[in-house]
Amino acid sequence: MSVADRLVELRGRIATAGGEPGRISICAVTKGHDVAAVEEACACGLVDVGENYAQEMLAKVQALAATAAEPRWHFIGRLQRNKVKALAPFVSLWQSVDRPELGAAIARHAPGAAVLVQVAVSDDVGKGGCPESEVPRLVDALMTDGLDVRGLMTVGPTDPWVDPRPGFDAVRLLADSLSLAEVSMGMSRDLEAAVAAGATIVRPGTALFGERPRTHRSGQ
Ligand SMILES: *Cc1c(COP(=O)(O)O)cnc(C)c1O
Repeated sequence: MSVADRLVELRGRIATAGGEPGRISICAVTKGHDVAAVEEACACGLVDVGENYAQEMLAKVQALAATAAEPRWHFIGRLQRNKVKALAPFVSLWQSVDRPELGAAIARHAPGAAVLVQVAVSDDVGKGGCPESEVPRLVDALMTDGLDVRGLMTVGPTDPWVDPRPGFDAVRLLADSLSLAEVSMGMSRDLEAAVAAGATIVRPGTALFGERPRTHRSGQ
């Protein structure tokens, strides 16, 4: 099945879940896929592309330099401060800011950059994210650094038996209470729950590009 066909299916899922497809932006997650996936996404009109790993994103940026594809890169993975400088010229939305030190590094290398605060709502500490109770303080700190805090981001539970909805509702409420417009949540498996809870950005990977051919290290 082509990316274009999968995109039609995905838009159908968004609509069925009660979302207006035109008002929810799709961040196409290409991690683990090669650069052809990014080109295909762009050819389908998907301009927002998400990557989790600094080296992988930079390799794709370089490979695409000679092509017509001009994605807006979203950084969505765990990030070390020392990677920020190399990424800064290319990232249009930093979705995974979860601590003040990381925000400060982004503010230094990309003044005024658009960011989301990643909120930890599931028990999976390996995913990163700022504890809910500390989010207001982090948002303040990022704004003080001059960053453009657009909203919140979260990763749903890995365990398929855990209902993602309460966590997604909590993040939407938290964003509303802080007057933040954007909420990035919903991956291939929990897209419907995220849309129903009020996601403004969804992050499908597998649903657009199929299973990832390579397995990934965690961390980095
Ligand atoms: C991998 C990943 C996605 C996409 O996951 P799929 O299950 O392939 O849809 C979305 N968001 C984040 C943060 C990810 O790490």
